[in-house]
Amino acid sequence: MTAALLGVPWDEHSSFLRGAALAPPAIRAAMRSPSSNLSTESGLDLGTDPRFWDAGDLEVEPGPRALEAIERGIREAIGKGTRVVALGGDHAITYPSVRVHAARYPGLTLVQLDAHPDLYDELDGDRLSHACPFSRILEEGLVRRLVQVGVRTLNGPQRTQAERFGVEVIEMRAWRPDLVLSADGPVYVSLDLDALDPAFAPGVSHPEPGGLSSRDVIGLLQRLQGKVVGADVVELNPTRDEKGATARVAAKLAKELLACLLSD
Ligand code: MN
Ligand code: MN
Repeated sequence: MTAALLGVPWDEHSSFLRGAALAPPAIRAAMRSPSSNLSTESGLDLGTDPRFWDAGDLEVEPGPRALEAIERGIREAIGKGTRVVALGGDHAITYPSVRVHAARYPGLTLVQLDAHPDLYDELDGDRLSHACPFSRILEEGLVRRLVQVGVRTLNGPQRTQAERFGVEVIEMRAWRPDLVLSADGPVYVSLDLDALDPAFAPGVSHPEPGGLSSRDVIGLLQRLQGKVVGADVVELNPTRDEKGATARVAAKLAKELLACLLSD
């Protein structure tokens, strides 16, 4: 079993600011920067571990065929027995990614780290908006559970959706630094970088104060009890990322997610 990075440069359905499509090369550059190395905290050296490779970026043409192209690209990548950390792009990439993973791994638990529930039925008339992917995923019954961590913008319409679909929302105000997530069966982790406080990850389109620290997220991933079979890191917006600080956090967290994927 191997684990790969796969860039998904797609931000057509961002509701406020474009720019997330520029993220994959920025995250790669941060990961490869000689300012650090490719070790995970568990002691894997991704610089020499033959199980880790870079699958490059998908070519995503604009328009209605994008979803299909993303599904096809991820399906091809994981069909070779590889587990993937998809680098967005905005959070809209999670819908096609989870569709592919759900088909391969029945009984999937989806763990979403995010300041926002992304549970709108539609936003500004767009059902594929990056504010809606989890409604699409739940409507299709793709996952057994959706667990959200870090949410601090839960409003009326999204609370209704969360109740309708039985979403397990761990709001930020209920956060405890020793939280342990556990799941039976396969787990997919979707990491929206705005789950972190803007002090740690300012380079996102929707910074929301009062969030997680880098250490909080690393610890949550390291304590996670379950078999992680896929992940994504989304919503880095390089046009808002002065000095690449957020790309550096994204690269660090991507390495820790790769460690999860390679841990069994
Ligand atoms: Mn999101
Ligand atoms: Mn968000």
